[in-house]
Amino acid sequence: MSNYKNHKNKIDKILNREISLEENVLYFLKNIEEKNYLNAYNFVFPESIEKAKKVEKKIFSGKYGKLAGMVIAIKDVIAIKDKPLTCSSNILRNFVSLYNATVINKLIAEDVIIIGKTNCDEFAMGSSNENSAFGKVFNPHDTNRVPGGSSGGSAVAVAADLCDASLGTDTGGSIRQPAAFCGVFGLKPTYGRVSRYGLTAFASSFDSIGPFAKSTDDIALIISVIAGKDKNDSTSGNQTVPDYTNNLNFDKKLVIGIPKEYFSEGLYYEIKDKINEILNKLKLNGFVIKEINLPHNEYTIATYYILTMAEASSNLARYDGARYGYRIENPKNLLDMYIESRSKGFGAEVKRRIMLGTYVLSSGYYDAYYKKAQKVRQVIKNDFVNAFKSVDIIITPTTPTTAFKIGENEDDPLQMYLNDIYTTSINLAGIPAINIPIGKDKNNLPIGMQILANQFEEEKLLQMSNFIEKEILKSD
Ligand code: GLN
Repeated sequence: MSNYKNHKNKIDKILNREISLEENVLYFLKNIEEKNYLNAYNFVFPESIEKAKKVEKKIFSGKYGKLAGMVIAIKDVIAIKDKPLTCSSNILRNFVSLYNATVINKLIAEDVIIIGKTNCDEFAMGSSNENSAFGKVFNPHDTNRVPGGSSGGSAVAVAADLCDASLGTDTGGSIRQPAAFCGVFGLKPTYGRVSRYGLTAFASSFDSIGPFAKSTDDIALIISVIAGKDKNDSTSGNQTVPDYTNNLNFDKKLVIGIPKEYFSEGLYYEIKDKINEILNKLKLNGFVIKEINLPHNEYTIATYYILTMAEASSNLARYDGARYGYRIENPKNLLDMYIESRSKGFGAEVKRRIMLGTYVLSSGYYDAYYKKAQKVRQVIKNDFVNAFKSVDIIITPTTPTTAFKIGENEDDPLQMYLNDIYTTSINLAGIPAINIPIGKDKNNLPIGMQILANQFEEEKLLQMSNFIEKEILKSD
C-alpha cells in the first residue's frame, strides 16, 4: 500500500527521504502487473520511471509544481500527444493522438506523472464497464462484480492502489457511480468548469472531466489545477477558480436538502441506513436537515437517454472509416466502406445508441422525442434552481444498489440504464456532485453517498465532503 495520506503528505515524505518517487512509481508499476486481472489499464507508460527521477530532482530543488510527483492515470477518452486514444473501441484501436487535451497540459505543467490510460466502456457508454473492446474491468472488492462505468478503469486504478489519482469523465454518472462501487472519491464538476478540449465527445452538452482520488484533499488539489476558462472550449466558464485546497473548512453550518424522491422504493436498505446514520450525526453537529422535493425526478432517465443518444449519434458520425480509425479492407464502394467499417468497428451498445439517437432526431419523431426531452430537461433543471433557493447543498445516494454481479444486467439495457437513476439528473442540470465512500454493506462492498451543490459551487461541495470525511467518518 502506498503509505501516505494525501499528496501534501507524499511531498513531505519525499522531502524527508522517507519515500523515493522512483520507488513509488516502481511500486505502482509492479502492482499494476500483479493486479493485471482487474484489467484497469489499456496502456501503461514505462517512461514514468524516468519522469519520476526528473520530478524528484525538481522537488529537492525547491521549485516544483502543485501536483509534483502525483501518479495519475487517464481515462482512455482523453487525448495525450503521441499516445493511443482508443475510447476502448475497435474503431479507434490504432489511433494515436496528435495533441494534448487542455487538462493534460495543465496536469503536466504541475509536474504530474502520467502512468497510463485506463479502460472504460466504449465511448464512455455504460454503467458497468462490460462494454469495452479491451475486455471487462473487475471490481477489486469482489472480482465477480462490476466496478461500475463508464470510468471503471479509473475508479479501479485508484481503489486498487494502482496510482494516486485518476481522471474520468461523467456524462450521466460515469465518475460518481464507479467511485461509489469501488469506494473512492469522485467529483463531477459543474458543466463548463473544466475544459473539454481533447476529450472525445459523447454527448457534448453533458460531458464533464473530473478526478478520482483517495481523499477530499487530493480531489480539491486536482480540480484547482484543471478547472478554468479555455479558449479552445467555448462552453468553458469564465468564473475565477478559487484555490479549493485553502478553503476546505466551513465558516458556517449549512442547510442540507434531502430530496424524498431519492429515498423511495428501489433504494437498497443498507445504503439508506448508512446515509441516515450520517445525516443524524450531521444534525448533532448543528447542520439543518430539510426535506425537499425534486418533483420531476421520474422523467430523468428517459430524458437523459433520449438527449444523450441524439447527441451521440451526431458526434459519432465522424467515425466513418474515411477520416479516423478502422476501415475495412477492399470495400466494394464508398457506401459499403462506411457501413461495413462502422458495423465492424463499433460494439453493440454504441450501435444501439447511434440507432436510437438517429431515430429520435428523424423528422417524423423529432417533436415527440428530442424536442420534448429538451423541454423536460429545462423543467428538471428548474427543480434544482428552486431547491437551491432554500438549501445550500443536497445529499442523496449515488446509486440504488452496491456493485452488481458481472453479467447481471448485460442483456437488459433498460435495467442497466436504471442504475443511473440518481446521477443523470445532475448532468441534465449541469451542476456539480461528488461521490464520497461512507462504508461497506454486509457483503463488504463499498457504499457511496452523493453531495450536490449549485452551479460553480464546488467549494461548498468539497467543504461538506471534507467535513464528513474528517469529522463524521473518522469519528466512527
Ligand atoms: N451510464 C451512463 C450512460 O451509459 C453514463 C455514462 C457516462 O457518464 N459517460 O450513458
